[in-house]
Amino acid sequence: MSIKDNLTAIKQKLPREVTLVAVSKTKPNEAILEAYEAGQRVFGENKIQEMLQKWETLPKDIEWHMIGHVQRNKVKYMGEYVSLIHGVDSFRLLAEINKQAKKHDRVISCLLQMHIAEEETKFGLDNTELKTIIDSEEFAALENIKIEGLMGMATFTKDERQIRKEFAYLKSIFDSLKQELPHISVLSMGMSGDYTIAMEEGSTMVRIGSSIFGARNYS
Ligand SMILES: *Cc1c(COP(=O)(O)O)cnc(C)c1O
Repeated sequence: MSIKDNLTAIKQKLPREVTLVAVSKTKPNEAILEAYEAGQRVFGENKIQEMLQKWETLPKDIEWHMIGHVQRNKVKYMGEYVSLIHGVDSFRLLAEINKQAKKHDRVISCLLQMHIAEEETKFGLDNTELKTIIDSEEFAALENIKIEGLMGMATFTKDERQIRKEFAYLKSIFDSLKQELPHISVLSMGMSGDYTIAMEEGSTMVRIGSSIFGARNYS
């Protein structure tokens, strides 16, 4: 199946209100252009340098999402153009994004990443840390960032019940956060292996790479 065929097949399964982020990390410009020709405009990358190179060379109406872990000293390389940063998991990072956004006279959309998986290696906030950020005066003073919602990654397992439980948990955090931040609308959860479950549990944004572009080769 071609990239175009893969995209069509996936889009058929997504309700209109679910946004597809085509995860193009490690993939060459030709592959991205093939998806672009098929109408895809939202792409996700997990390395800031790689995303910068792609932004510089590819059509300017592409929306670039940073889905990976973000180092504070690299935010400056995407402040000018990034459209959504999914992996925000500390106040200090949020403050740096605010600073870089201000330089470019922009408001940068962000998702707070929650830790929902059993694995300890995955990044993200717990409920208490989330509360601490949201309730702080320093947070209220940040004028150049906008929290659009939450992001999370489920445990890498074949156990569907486990995955479903973790997504349902993230949805419950999203629903309670909405009481405090009524404008939030994005719940970024679901990848190639688990996006169907994620959508059943309330996802509004899925991040799909290998099912569109094929397996990644990290040589
Ligand atoms: C790579 C990646 C994806 C896409 O993974 P696939 O299994 O290829 O769909 C989604 N989200 C994040 C955060 C990723 O790093």
